[in-house]
Amino acid sequence: MKNLIDKYGRKIEYLRISVTDRCNLSCLYCIPPEGIKLVPKEKLLTFEEILRVAKITVGLGVQKIKLTGGEPLVRKGIVELIRKLSEIPELEDLSLTTNGILLSSLSEKLFQAGLKRVNVSVDSLQPDRFREITGGGELSKVLLGIDKAQNLGMKVKVNTVSLRGFNDPEILDFVQFSQIKKLEVRFIEFMPLCGNGWNQKLFIPLNEAKEIIAKSYTLKLTDGNGVATVYEIENGGRIGFIPTLSEPFCSGCSRIRLTSWGGIRPCLFSNIEYRILPLLRDGSPDEKIAEVIIKAVQSKPEYNPYLAQKTETKEILMRNVGG
Ligand code: SAM
Repeated sequence: MKNLIDKYGRKIEYLRISVTDRCNLSCLYCIPPEGIKLVPKEKLLTFEEILRVAKITVGLGVQKIKLTGGEPLVRKGIVELIRKLSEIPELEDLSLTTNGILLSSLSEKLFQAGLKRVNVSVDSLQPDRFREITGGGELSKVLLGIDKAQNLGMKVKVNTVSLRGFNDPEILDFVQFSQIKKLEVRFIEFMPLCGNGWNQKLFIPLNEAKEIIAKSYTLKLTDGNGVATVYEIENGGRIGFIPTLSEPFCSGCSRIRLTSWGGIRPCLFSNIEYRILPLLRDGSPDEKIAEVIIKAVQSKPEYNPYLAQKTETKEILMRNVGG
């Protein structure tokens, strides 16, 4: 089988892999007040297991893989995993999303191992505010990481979760940052997950951000990628909007997720999960694992129920499922 098609006709070609639930930051929108219970190490997928699932899904038709977490760069051996994944012949696109804290020290090795694209999360360009949002992160380290990655020739995109009362005064600063660094800045709507304190007061619908930008810049629509609507602006800037809540893109969703503890999740907002860890550890053949992946794809909801309700869901922990 070379095409993974779900029962609503969506072609599934994108696998997001959470390589760890550990993280070196504690962003206020990612952590519930009671904290996070980490998965015991022996229950996390090994790199061999991740590689095996990646190869099976690519064999089924997946063309793009993104590594996420948690923070993927805190997992020991991540460079070797990248190298092995980049050697999968039919995989067209391999990328990673990171908070950037360790990027400057690892970027060269990652690049040499085959990583050509990276998304870096930057929620503020003000050091104090950055520290506040991320629970102590150093902005300068992240900016250094971005520069290093770009100098090596990596394609860098910046992701910014829009939070009213925190980074809303910085919308135009991010636009300028995009122009100066010649990279795409993507504004992401704050999503209600894992008891993270989501409420309407913190939420910025992205058409509001777009209106603010459009008063000062000419926005020229480009193709986008099904999830982000992307605009070119003057002087080499690119601005994307990911309006997960206000304009859900479920009908164009081509993703499934592999959780750090070995489950296949067909939708970020749904608790549907197919466990493959036991199969990976009991000697089951690839065909049996492929069957479970196909089953997971067939159970992908048409539209996720939480988006419609716009209420918080306590059960889904971004760090485990993989944002
Ligand atoms: N640590 C990595 C990083 O910072 O990119 C990967 C994991 S992180 C969960 C992936 C992305 O999810 C980040 O861009 C983060 O800002 C975003 N994210 C986490 N919780 C979110 C939420 N509640 N709403 C919107 N985006 C969120």
